[in-house]
Amino acid sequence: MIKYDRYTGGKRYAATFSYDDGGAADRRLVELFNKYGMKATFNLISSSVIKETGDGIKANEIKELYNGHEIACHTYTHPHLEKMSIKDQYDEIMRDREILEGAWGQIIRGLAYPFGTYNDDTLTAMRTASLVYGRTNVATNNFNLPQDFKIWNPTSHHNECEPCVKRFLYNVTKAPWRAGGVLYIWGHSYELNNAESPVQWEKFEEILKVLSEHNDGIWFATNIEIYDYVNAISALRRSADGKTIYNPTDIDVWISVDDEAIEVPHAKAITI
Ligand SMILES: [Zn+2]
Repeated sequence: MIKYDRYTGGKRYAATFSYDDGGAADRRLVELFNKYGMKATFNLISSSVIKETGDGIKANEIKELYNGHEIACHTYTHPHLEKMSIKDQYDEIMRDREILEGAWGQIIRGLAYPFGTYNDDTLTAMRTASLVYGRTNVATNNFNLPQDFKIWNPTSHHNECEPCVKRFLYNVTKAPWRAGGVLYIWGHSYELNNAESPVQWEKFEEILKVLSEHNDGIWFATNIEIYDYVNAISALRRSADGKTIYNPTDIDVWISVDDEAIEVPHAKAITI
């Protein structure tokens, strides 16, 4: 039996992180992610990154600081998009995209909605701005991928993530047949500085450390890497007799054939 239930490297689970606003604490957070081999998406407000004053992340450090991670839009001024006209929503998103692409040097394809809020016009505006996914602030407390990536609800905020991480690691280690799980944690790096927060730097580092110890079963990826992988696997073409599988994309994917992980390399066909 064939199942499309694996991620890169044949792993059954994936984990991703999403951090908003680009505050000064991003510098420490990136260091932590790098130390434990995690990948994250950083959603930046471009009116802040072009500011000369303050200690937030500046345009000229984006390329080096976030190397290996993903930069995504968080709009130009961080407004409540749903209270604006569709044209102004589009301008907020597109202006952000242009400035961030200029600083990062790569094409930006994702968005985190400021305050997590949006309306139908936002979805049209972000699509018109060629963005393919949008993250909300609504916690699912599960590991399912969204039906529609334009409304990508995360598993949980990092302050409430501990029970989810525990359940996730139980699945990874004890119940791998519960395939298809993506742990998606979001937050703001400055919250880790807050003495009132249930999860501060030390605890967050512990969480990352435990996750990293299971990297044989978890694919750590940015948001866009997960989006692209899921789309690649759904683009596989299978012959009528079921024996030939062709991968027309530029991404290597893995499938289960009788529960065994089989790679279907990019632009290649395999026979099973
Ligand atoms: Zn924000």
